[in-house]
Amino acid sequence: MAATYDCIIIGAGPGGLQAAIHLGRYRRRALMLDHGAGRTRHALHIENYLGIPAISGKNLVDIGLGQLRQFGGEFRREHVETVMVADGFLIATDQGRYRAPFVIASTGVTEKIPPIARMNRFFGRSVFTCVDCDGYHTVGKKLAILGDSLESARLALAMQQMFTQTITLVLPGGLLPPDLVELLTEEGIIVRAGTPQEFLGDPILTGVRLHSGEEIFCEVAMLSYGYTINDSYLAGLDVARDGNRAEIVTSGVHETSVRNLFAVGALKPGNPQAIIAAGQGCQAAIEINRRLLAI
Ligand SMILES: Cc1cc2nc3c(=O)[nH]c(=O)nc-3n(C[C@H](O)[C@H](O)[C@H](O)COP(=O)(O)OP(=O)(O)OC[C@H]3O[C@@H](n4cnc5c(N)ncnc54)[C@H](O)[C@@H]3O)c2cc1C
Repeated sequence: MAATYDCIIIGAGPGGLQAAIHLGRYRRRALMLDHGAGRTRHALHIENYLGIPAISGKNLVDIGLGQLRQFGGEFRREHVETVMVADGFLIATDQGRYRAPFVIASTGVTEKIPPIARMNRFFGRSVFTCVDCDGYHTVGKKLAILGDSLESARLALAMQQMFTQTITLVLPGGLLPPDLVELLTEEGIIVRAGTPQEFLGDPILTGVRLHSGEEIFCEVAMLSYGYTINDSYLAGLDVARDGNRAEIVTSGVHETSVRNLFAVGALKPGNPQAIIAAGQGCQAAIEINRRLLAI
């Protein structure tokens, strides 16, 4: 027999946790499932969350889990494999099966990180992936942007406007049309063709070596390789998607095209920011409680 809840929330990032806290405070039976090692835990310094001058992502999540428990929410460290529609929803994890009339998907995204040696030493400190999160940490510094698409060129121009004038853009050869290379060069952005092999420096980042052997000097680096959406467990459901990136499309209260299945946070189109995810989680929980009252 699968245990039954009012709502099952998949993913304990800011989006899912905020939803669970609200549902708990309505005294609903909420189950939070998370397989661990989430993206927010990699954020060393969140400095753009209202009311909190600075906090690590790990700390934010741990405080959220404490609040969830304080209001009676249940947390299980399990990997969700499938969500099926079957008299409400039936959720299968690597350890069990659970039922609920409402589900919130809040499993975020995973950055595509290329295999560059000594990445772990600098990731989150001087090697970043998110301009909204960490662009500010590059102010006035020598910056290398490492990427694999035209999006990386747009990022270089944007970062030059906001943060720093000293930018080297490293992309696979032949990717950029010549007129774009000309424009970037005119703007003072150095363009290099190549593939990064290894970050240099100890303990401070001093550069990146390409497979060709060329060394690019930098104090900070921004990775621009896109991301994948963590939603494989929804594959069996007919969830409407955004045409370009196949991100989940929802209504104003964050309901997907599958009735009573909600999606909040970074796995939806928009900017993957903690405060946005939390706001969406709050809104979804209020709507779910409204529907539970009507049942
Ligand atoms: C290095 C770094 C720095 C950042 N800095 C900032 C910052 O300064 N400010 C800011 O606002 N945001 C920052 N972010 C972004 C932020 O961490 C999140 O992207 C954002 O909070 C969105 O949260 P979310 O709730 O949608 O998803 P996430 O926080 O990504 O949480 C998703 C959760 O789902 C779980 N999960 C995924 N798949 C499954 C599954 N199948 N079964 C069970 N569990 C699953 C994961 O373990 C994870 O805990 C940063 C991110 C990184 C990587």
